[in-house]
Amino acid sequence: MITVQDIHKSYGTIEVIKGVSFDVQVGEVVCIIGPSGSGKSTILRCINGLETYQKGEIRIDGDLVNPADKSIIGLRQRVSMVFQRFNLFPHRTVLENVMEGPVHVKHVRRSEARELAAEYLTKVGLEAKLDAYPENLSGGQQQRVAIARALAMQPEAILFDEPTSALDPELVGEVLKVMRDVALEGMTMVVVTHEMGFAREVADRVLFLEGGRIVEQGPPEEILRAPKEVRTQDFLRRVINPLE
Ligand code: ADP
Ligand code: MG
Repeated sequence: MITVQDIHKSYGTIEVIKGVSFDVQVGEVVCIIGPSGSGKSTILRCINGLETYQKGEIRIDGDLVNPADKSIIGLRQRVSMVFQRFNLFPHRTVLENVMEGPVHVKHVRRSEARELAAEYLTKVGLEAKLDAYPENLSGGQQQRVAIARALAMQPEAILFDEPTSALDPELVGEVLKVMRDVALEGMTMVVVTHEMGFAREVADRVLFLEGGRIVEQGPPEEILRAPKEVRTQDFLRRVINPLE
């Protein structure tokens, strides 16, 4: 479904992605872990055509992701993204926020978009909040609206960039549960996260990224329980015990 082949990306003269390759099968959940600055967000942005890359190839279901080509508009509709910050429109209701994409990007009729939005908001447990404004929701609820908004585009895959990192700790679980449900329904997902419990339970594969390279990848039980590379071991130790 997604193939990333030997991607190199530089900002100016500094190469931040140094030959990354992986693919994601239909229905697969791939978690990307790694230290700050290792290039996790940059890779997601490249997949979604928000960033150019200098070398290599990214394909969505065979179609080349080329930010310089007008085909990118169609490709971005096929892959949704959920960010750390929810980026909801503050002056629109929850329902209107979720309708926005289908109506303005996919030109779905408003009545149909309203039904679709209500359906996905119900799926994320917010059927009682359709007419609320984002500022009156908790961070966890706002992020669930953002997930409903991504789902309402009926994408082929969803990319999540640290979706729970900005949340108060007690709100993380409700968002991870919704993500797990979405995964169980068969959505193809790439998830950048520091939530090792989620990665262990939901991921089919975990990639450990450092310095713009994949150091190690494999099933979660391998990468998280018995990583082969010292750099992976060190990273996991720091995440699990920050005082060490
Ligand atoms: P991560 O998400 O793993 O924390 P990023 O993908 O955000 O890492 O960043 C990877 C590297 O690229 C970092 O060194 C960061 O400073 C650099 N970088 C990210 N965005 C830009 C930018 N717009 N201009 C210059 N450097 C950038
Ligand atoms: Mg990042």
